[in-house]
Amino acid sequence: MKIGFIGLGNMGNPMAANLAKAGYAVTGFDTANVSVPGVEMASSSADAASGAEIVITMLPNGQILRAVAEDIIPSMSEGSVWIDCSTVDVDSARAVASQAAKAGILAVDAPVSGGIGGAAAGTLTFMAGGSDAAFAKAAPLFDIMGQKAVHCGESGAGQAAKICNNMILGVTMIATCEAFALADKLGLDRQKMFDVVSTSSGYSWTMNAYCPAPGVGPASPADNDYQPGFAAELMLKDLRLSQQAAESSDADTPMGQAATSLYERFVEAEDGLGKDFSAMLPRLEKRGRE
Ligand code: NAD
Repeated sequence: MKIGFIGLGNMGNPMAANLAKAGYAVTGFDTANVSVPGVEMASSSADAASGAEIVITMLPNGQILRAVAEDIIPSMSEGSVWIDCSTVDVDSARAVASQAAKAGILAVDAPVSGGIGGAAAGTLTFMAGGSDAAFAKAAPLFDIMGQKAVHCGESGAGQAAKICNNMILGVTMIATCEAFALADKLGLDRQKMFDVVSTSSGYSWTMNAYCPAPGVGPASPADNDYQPGFAAELMLKDLRLSQQAAESSDADTPMGQAATSLYERFVEAEDGLGKDFSAMLPRLEKRGRE
């Protein structure tokens, strides 16, 4: 089976390499000059997509996705499958899926969680939106690139699941960090705080698995001077997507909105760019009440 893979950056590169390693004939394209073990490079996205039974895209945003859709849809054949693994806005995901459907192409939006480590290890989680037929054709590839794939519903449902999850992630990280900063000011030992909260009703993934306080809980980016991990600017990207979706669906998301403005300040006006998103803790602990 021939696969076209477009967008071979931090995530796409190891994902394409895993498909090649599993024996698929993968033809890749990226606007940057990159190479991927086992992947033959094409000279354009249209070339990479031409003759492929499955095309996978892993691109930075919805605008680029829409542009790539214009290039690849005309060169894909009827009955072929397009899996978009990028994290983009729900409206773009739905728009390109309907464009693909008009050309007889089965489209799946399938954003991932698991980060660069998960992409390299083939342990990503896919959240997929599209028809049953499209999901069934994509499933064997999800098995190679990941460890779990959830079919969330029709087109756009994968992106919806991704941004709702990440809105919870951004909000709970801030809540966890501000609770640690308050605990510090109250003279509460951080380890004691972890011991109580991680087994009480305040527990969460950000406390229990990715604790923002160095030296407390399992190893996390906090123990590595807040090197990402999951960079604050990527958290901001996903929070903005959640607010864009909330705007277009008229949903009230006050905590998501507050988390978006706080990460915006952190990344754009302070020193958060390039740091892990859990570096919200040292930011808060330095400050007094506003
Ligand atoms: P990246 O910037 O490393 O890779 C994107 C690649 O797309 C780049 O190599 C770029 O040159 C290429 N590209 C841009 N425009 C193109 C075009 N028109 N045609 C072909 N290639 C083009 O980003 P990444 O970290 O690989 O992330 C990709 C997607 O995955 C993003 O949507 C991101 O939000 C999402 N994501 C990333 C992570 C992570 O931890 N990095 C985790 C989950 C989801």
